Amino acid sequence: MAYSYEAPVSQSLFDRASVVTPGGVNSPVRAFRAVGGTPRFMVSGAGPYLTDADGREYVDLVCSWGPMILGHSHPEVIAAVQEAVSRGTSFGTPGEGEVALAEEIVARIEPVEQVRLVSSGTEATMSAIRLARGFTGRAKVVKFAGCYHGHVDALLAAAGSGVATFGLPDTPGVTGATAGDTVVLPYNDLDAVRAAFAAHPGEIACVITEASPGNMGVVPPADGFNAGLKELCAANGALYISDEVMTGFRTSKAGWYGVDGVRPDLMTFGKVMGGGFPAAAFGGRGDVMAHLAPAGPVYQAGTLSGNPVATAAGLAQLRLLDDAAYAKIDAVSAELRSLVGDALTKEGVAHTVSAASNMFSVFFTDRPVRDYEDAKKQDVFRFTAFFHSMLEQGVYLPPSAFESWFVSTAHDEQAVERIAAALPAAARAASEATA
Ligand code: PLP
Repeated sequence: MAYSYEAPVSQSLFDRASVVTPGGVNSPVRAFRAVGGTPRFMVSGAGPYLTDADGREYVDLVCSWGPMILGHSHPEVIAAVQEAVSRGTSFGTPGEGEVALAEEIVARIEPVEQVRLVSSGTEATMSAIRLARGFTGRAKVVKFAGCYHGHVDALLAAAGSGVATFGLPDTPGVTGATAGDTVVLPYNDLDAVRAAFAAHPGEIACVITEASPGNMGVVPPADGFNAGLKELCAANGALYISDEVMTGFRTSKAGWYGVDGVRPDLMTFGKVMGGGFPAAAFGGRGDVMAHLAPAGPVYQAGTLSGNPVATAAGLAQLRLLDDAAYAKIDAVSAELRSLVGDALTKEGVAHTVSAASNMFSVFFTDRPVRDYEDAKKQDVFRFTAFFHSMLEQGVYLPPSAFESWFVSTAHDEQAVERIAAALPAAARAASEATA
C-alpha cells in the first residue's frame, strides 16, 4: 500500500534507529509492521495530543498503551515527578513513596491484602506465577489463547487449542520444557478449563487470565466466566490470577475487580499505576504473599523496584483518579464508540465495536467475537486502510487491529470533534479497501 503523506524526520530517525536497534524499536508493535508505513517518532505530548518529529499533531488514542489516563503532561503528575527528582532518583533502600503507593492500591482493591512493587507488567506476571508455583508446589499454568501477559517465557505459549493441548513455544528462545508446563485454552470456554483440571489432577498451580482481555482487541469475559474460573480454581487447589495490568485503575477505580467483583487470589498491575514511569505490582491474599522473600521462601527482587520517581508519578496519578474522572473517561469512550460505529455503518463496513467499560476496539467483522479465533477472522486489511486514513488526518490509533483503544480525562470536546471529523473519510477508506 502506498501512503500519500510522508514523515521525513520520523523516517530518518527510524533509519538511524534500525542501525543500532533490532527493527528500529524497543517494543515490536511500535514498528508499524502490522499496518506498514513510517512509525511516528513522538517528541512531546500535552493533554490528548502528541506531536511528532515532523511537527504534526495527533489526537492520541493509544495513551502509551494505557498509562496516560489523565492525558499527557498532566501538571500535577509532572509537579510530583519534579519534586521527587529534586530529592534524588534512586536510593536502593525502602522509602515512604512506595509505602504510600502500596497503601493506595490496597485501599482501592479489596482482595489485595499485600502488594509487591516491580518495574514492569512482565515482571509482575512472571513473579505472580512463580509465587503461585511456590505456594502450591505445582508446576502447570493455565493461560488463554489471545491473552498477553508480557514476554514471560512460560506465558508466550499462545498456540494450540483444545483441552489437553500443551503450549508450543510461540517464539524461538522459549524451550519446550518451559512451554510444556503451560496449558493453553480457548478464551471464554469453561468446559475447556474443567477438562484441563480433569486431565491434570493436582498439577495445575494457577489459572492466569486477563481480567478482561484487551490484547486480542477487546474481548470481555462472558457472563460468569471469571466467576467460573475462580470456582474451578478453588475446587482444584489452584490459584486464580487476574492480570489487571491493562484494566487496573482504568476500567473503574478498582479496575475490572470493581466491575465484576470476582475475588482473585493474586492480581497483577502496571500501566496506570506508574503514571508513565516503569512501575507495576502484584498482590493478593495475605497468606499467599507471605510466601514471598524475605517473609517467605519464594525469591523475587529488583534494583529499581519501588523507584521514588516512578512511585511519585503513580501515586499522583491514582490520587487524581476519582469518581468524576472515571465518569468522564466512560462518557468520552461511549461517545467515540458511537461515532465510530455510526461512521462505519454509514459506509456499509461490517464491524463490531467491542467494549469493556471504557476500553474498546473495533473488529472489522459483524460476527460475534468471543475468543482469539473469532478475533482473527476479521478483515484486517480494512483496519489498515482505516488506520492510515485516521493517521493522515491527525488521529493516532493503535497500529494493529488487535489492540485496545485508550482514552483519557484530557479527551475534551475539541479532541472528540477532531476524531469525528476524520471518521467519514476513514470509514470510506475501510469500505473501499481490498484484501
Ligand atoms: N499483562 C497485560 C494484560 C498487558 O496488557 C501487558 C502489556 O501490555 C503486560 C502484562 C506486560 O506489561 P509490560 O509491557 O509492562 O511488561
